[in-house]
Amino acid sequence: MKEIILCKYGEIVLKGANKSSFESQLTKELRRRAWQFGAFTVRHAQSTVYIEPLNDEADIDGMYESARDVFGIVGVTRAAVAEKDMDDICRVAKEYLAEKLDGVPSFRVDAKRSDKSFPLSSPEIAARVGGALLSCGKGAKVDLHNPALHIRVEVRESAAYLHAGQERGAGGLPRGSAGKAMLLLSGGIDSPVAGYMMAKRGLEMEAVHFESYPYTSERAKEKVFSLGDILCRYTSRLPIHVFSLTHIQEELVKKCDEDYFTLLLRHFMMRLAERCARERKCGALVTGESLGQVASQTLEALTVTEAAVSIPLFRPCIGMDKTEIIDIARKIGTFETSILPYEDCCTVFTPRHPRTRPALDKVWAELAKVDVDALLDEAWNSRETVTRTLYEEK
Ligand code: ATP
Ligand code: MG
Repeated sequence: MKEIILCKYGEIVLKGANKSSFESQLTKELRRRAWQFGAFTVRHAQSTVYIEPLNDEADIDGMYESARDVFGIVGVTRAAVAEKDMDDICRVAKEYLAEKLDGVPSFRVDAKRSDKSFPLSSPEIAARVGGALLSCGKGAKVDLHNPALHIRVEVRESAAYLHAGQERGAGGLPRGSAGKAMLLLSGGIDSPVAGYMMAKRGLEMEAVHFESYPYTSERAKEKVFSLGDILCRYTSRLPIHVFSLTHIQEELVKKCDEDYFTLLLRHFMMRLAERCARERKCGALVTGESLGQVASQTLEALTVTEAAVSIPLFRPCIGMDKTEIIDIARKIGTFETSILPYEDCCTVFTPRHPRTRPALDKVWAELAKVDVDALLDEAWNSRETVTRTLYEEK
């Protein structure tokens, strides 16, 4: 008996003329992932991607886990393959599904027949498979209204597939189908969540990280790389461009009003991020800002941040509470790493009385006290790029 993985598309089904390019992006992504788990074929038909192991060495458990993280898929399931013949379907049902009935009080079988030339109707197929499973003597009863186990039989073009329910996939749209964006990735809780959320909408991701060595440590940077590795479960790859803000911070401390310090620093961050985004052909910036969370995220402070750039700025966490952001961070696996206690460049030299209602003209006046262009160029030249990947790239 052969087991395969079925991945059902989500929103892609709604796409009109573009559907085939979404499908091929999704299939390509699954194929790249499959390479690391052995020999598989990956093909799509009828709004489903079929991932089929070609030999016993292929690691279907590993591939299944990985497919659950792929954007563009709403449901994923492992299924047994049967010939399009009622006797074979019942044989496979007993072999593959009977053990799943152990200790289960009730079940229901539904059948779907997309091949209309198959001689039995869907209710007839379901009844035959239900009968075969009852004959296994497991004690589970048929319950059409509230079954403990929901079994499905799908008679499709080239074979019949049997499975006991599907799990939710990652949802969203396939990687790269919406273009590319630059994430401002700190070591905190919010920015990895922001990156995940925009990657889910089909954006390929790159990241910038700002350090302030020796005020921030090598370990703080390693932590950001670890966060990058976790994000790669969903984004598959993540180039991280690291810039040093050390000299900028020293200049600001020396020459500017302390109360404006964080806002001025954010101005430099945004300018460098935009420059990097343009060079890397990213169409937007992404941050983890959330309205009112800290002094630099009041409406007025966000206006200052936004005024630094002329490229779309996405803030997917803007309307979320911290607890909601943490729930997502836990779900995607970044939380435990994010809370490791290393310093961030925003937490060194923090003002005692940060401005929560800054006026833009006062910000520009403070900026005029330093040589902005020279500082930007110097920071730009400090760049170090590290590319994290989920799988070896061919
Ligand atoms: P986070 O949990 O993401 O660190 P935060 O609540 O600490 O967020 P801030 O420090 O004000 O908030 O930063 C707001 C946003 O600015 C972050 O979500 C991130 O997108 C960006 N950012 C902050 N510090 C850095 C950094 N060192 N490198 C890159 N981006 C940063
Ligand atoms: Mg932070």
